[in-house]
Amino acid sequence: MNQNTSRRQVLQGLVATAVVIGFDVVGRSWVTSANASSIFESIPPLDGKLYTDSETLASASVDFGNIIHRQPIAVLHPESIEDIVQIIRFARTHQIKVAARGQGHSTYGQSQVEAGIVINMSTLNKIHFVGTDRAVVDAGVLWSQLLQQTLVQGLTPPVLTDYIELSIGGTLSVGGIGGATHRYGVQVDNVLELKVVTGTGQLKTCSPLENSHLWESVLAGLGQCGIIVQATVKLIHAATNVRVFELYYDDLATFTRDQRLLINEQRFNYVEGQLIAKDTGGWRYLLEAASFYSPPNIPNNSVLLEGLNYTPGTEKIEDKSYFDFLNRLAPTVAFLKSIGVWSYPHPWLDLFVPSSAVNSFVGEVAANLTLADTGQGPILLYPVKTKRFHLPLFRVPTEEMVFLFSILRTAAPPEDVVVTRMLSDNRKLFEQNRDLGGYKYSVDAIPFSKKDWQQHFGRVWGNLVSAKRRYDPDNLLTPGQGIFVKQVNDMNEV
Ligand SMILES: Cc1cc2nc3c(=O)[nH]c(=O)nc-3n(C[C@H](O)[C@H](O)[C@H](O)COP(=O)(O)OP(=O)(O)OC[C@H]3O[C@@H](n4cnc5c(N)ncnc54)[C@H](O)[C@@H]3O)c2cc1C
Repeated sequence: MNQNTSRRQVLQGLVATAVVIGFDVVGRSWVTSANASSIFESIPPLDGKLYTDSETLASASVDFGNIIHRQPIAVLHPESIEDIVQIIRFARTHQIKVAARGQGHSTYGQSQVEAGIVINMSTLNKIHFVGTDRAVVDAGVLWSQLLQQTLVQGLTPPVLTDYIELSIGGTLSVGGIGGATHRYGVQVDNVLELKVVTGTGQLKTCSPLENSHLWESVLAGLGQCGIIVQATVKLIHAATNVRVFELYYDDLATFTRDQRLLINEQRFNYVEGQLIAKDTGGWRYLLEAASFYSPPNIPNNSVLLEGLNYTPGTEKIEDKSYFDFLNRLAPTVAFLKSIGVWSYPHPWLDLFVPSSAVNSFVGEVAANLTLADTGQGPILLYPVKTKRFHLPLFRVPTEEMVFLFSILRTAAPPEDVVVTRMLSDNRKLFEQNRDLGGYKYSVDAIPFSKKDWQQHFGRVWGNLVSAKRRYDPDNLLTPGQGIFVKQVNDMNEV
């Protein structure tokens, strides 16, 4: 890399009125050529750009949740892994907090950093290699981009989230669950190798066999021990078509019994479900199942539906291309963006409920839940098998089967009083579920203390603390999760 050229590039993105040339260690602000009388530390040479303009800072202080807003002092758009190494070393020298931002689709400030540096991963976005059983991708690549490329070779990642415009690094930091999880686990269970930049600015490769401690600390590790910069993800054969079945139920227990049956038998490739508001008030239940196929092999409807107890005559059956099925949320998202609702606050609740408690817990919640509580956002309910999960930081109840129960609330109208009420409801439901042995899925918006995190990680809390000490001893990384809220000495308390 030519240092002069790269320095010029660094400066290009910075404030229009004054050129930033360094960081004032005492004043903890960027130094421009206009105020360069103070002693300052030069920013390292970068292939990408470090932005400090107000528009870029403002965009990094908002996420899909639009509830928490923390303003960073700079946003890095990396063009290389080395940029991330350099900026983390620089941040460490000056004790500046850092967080990666994938697409900023989490809902409670998880990718934000007050007065720190946000690494906008979307510019680190190359698909390096697609082989017969794996792909090597930069962490800023979206799952939709990878899928489009792998489908050309008749391949697909085994598990995709419902919305595929999420970054690979972002979902690998949280888990990545979808309708195929009952067969293949979460996305973190379908990775072969990672490249990670730790909180000490070291670039490391890790896998189950190499640096396995780091591997287990980073996958579903909520960005606490390193920034995932590259991933080798598994690929499997992709069918070309999908037959989608929508089956309606009036009764929760019958609905969950059929869902359990379907995932036990692995009858379908994809199983999810939703609570749907009835016109007359209350809820009915939609079982969504999909069978993947490539003609001339065609699914046999009566075999697939045999023995299910949905309300007769309610079934809807539709054929789609594999890509259209996986991209099925795109029209809804486009619509929500067009009417402005996409940017409303989203106090989402995502819980893992033990199977043994699902009917009583969800039944009770549903009995008291109205559209005013959800803002018309969807309510997901579907089972997965815990034996498919292999990463310790992905926390779920200990039973063989657990249900994802997500109330994907929109604060409508988008007023503080509505957000506050929804957050308080989230907290209450979290506590009820926790007391039943349940967990939260950490992409949601639940006020959470350090004590809550200790309880959440339970028997693996000690492992996370020792990994944090080892890989991020200055506690720089991803403060927005609120796990290690004070300085690292604080960790000695545990
Ligand atoms: C419409 C919609 C649908 C969704 N559907 C699903 C679904 O079906 N299944 C599911 O599991 N989730 C789903 N999610 C939630 C989603 O998985 C999380 O919001 C996830 O965090 C999104 O990834 P992101 O790229 O936006 O990450 P961000 O929100 O930007 O980041 C999430 C966290 O990971 C950290 N992080 C990001 N990139 C990296 C990296 N490279 N290295 C280390 N840490 C990093 C961030 O600092 C932050 O703490 C959905 C979200 C939305 C908005």
